Amino acid sequence: MNLTLSRRHFLKAATLAGVGSVLFPREGMSYASSQTEKTSKALAISSANGIRATEKAMQLMRDGKDALDAVIAGVNIVEDDPNDMSVGLGGLPNADGDVELDASVMHGPSHRAGAVAALRNIKNPSKVARAVMERTDHVLLVGEGALRFAKMHGFVEENLLTDESREEWVKWKESLSKEDDYLPPHSIDDLNIGERIKKALQTYGTINCLGLDLQGNISGVTTTSGLAYKIPGRVGDSPIIGAGLYVDNAVGAAGSTGRGEANLANCSSVMIVEYMRQGKSPEEACLLACRRIVEHTKEKRLLDGSGRPNFDVKFYAISRKGEHGSASIWSNGKYVVNDGGGSRLLDCAFLYERPSKK
Ligand code: ASP
Repeated sequence: MNLTLSRRHFLKAATLAGVGSVLFPREGMSYASSQTEKTSKALAISSANGIRATEKAMQLMRDGKDALDAVIAGVNIVEDDPNDMSVGLGGLPNADGDVELDASVMHGPSHRAGAVAALRNIKNPSKVARAVMERTDHVLLVGEGALRFAKMHGFVEENLLTDESREEWVKWKESLSKEDDYLPPHSIDDLNIGERIKKALQTYGTINCLGLDLQGNISGVTTTSGLAYKIPGRVGDSPIIGAGLYVDNAVGAAGSTGRGEANLANCSSVMIVEYMRQGKSPEEACLLACRRIVEHTKEKRLLDGSGRPNFDVKFYAISRKGEHGSASIWSNGKYVVNDGGGSRLLDCAFLYERPSKK
């Protein structure tokens, strides 16, 4: 594609539409883009916890809404759900028992992005990320500054720790060590209490949702409470543009869930989009990103007996042509697709078959 020409077209479209409206997209607006044609079909995909999110996103896009409005409205359902312990309200907290949320959004037609990290007390970090994109000259705000910015824009603070997520955190704290004074529930004559202590699982969990709207424009969002019981202040891949999310309106979009540290050291989302630019399908591109993580995983503590990563990552991708794909390092992963016929779970491609549990 002649980039100079397409940029000129884009600027012309921007001028016609009024520069303000292109540079500062508002909810509910649709966007002209020189790089995409109108598509007859919209597409929404997400991580496996996004059945309701993709339904909502599809419904909005079918009504002509911009993909960014659609995917954010979709993931807000999961952020608001106290029963999903990996995102928003009810997300598992950090090691101190405080819920710290990360999120990013990226809008294809304007190629603008916004993100927040280690944000406390606001259940919809994806909306705050959007406000960062629209109302600042920055891309990423973190911690106290992100909270102050959210409050400035009318977001209301609330306690995000539900009883269920607090109890999970207490279990984790009580099972950390035989050397400290925290004990899980035990009977008065339990002699083996020290032996019964096992490290509780530090779980991952996130929602990534990508959309292609009827105008042929692409946007994406990733939102998470991150790694459960993380060191306070730890930020994963989700709010990092190029790692947990990347959109190029002329090519496609990619996002991730799973071990953020592995993705942060590989910038996989931008890599997936670049592979698609070279002609790879979304699934092939996601598999190549998994392969790169395997090649770059050197520390023995992160490898199993056969030298393969002992963690998982999953990638999700769509192309501007309306193709989709997903891949993970280990088998049994799922992702959600909605191309107009309802949201359905599909298998992710993978590099290695999980050993069967005996
Ligand atoms: N990738 C997220 C993080 O590392 C967690 C996840 O997707 O489960 O923070």
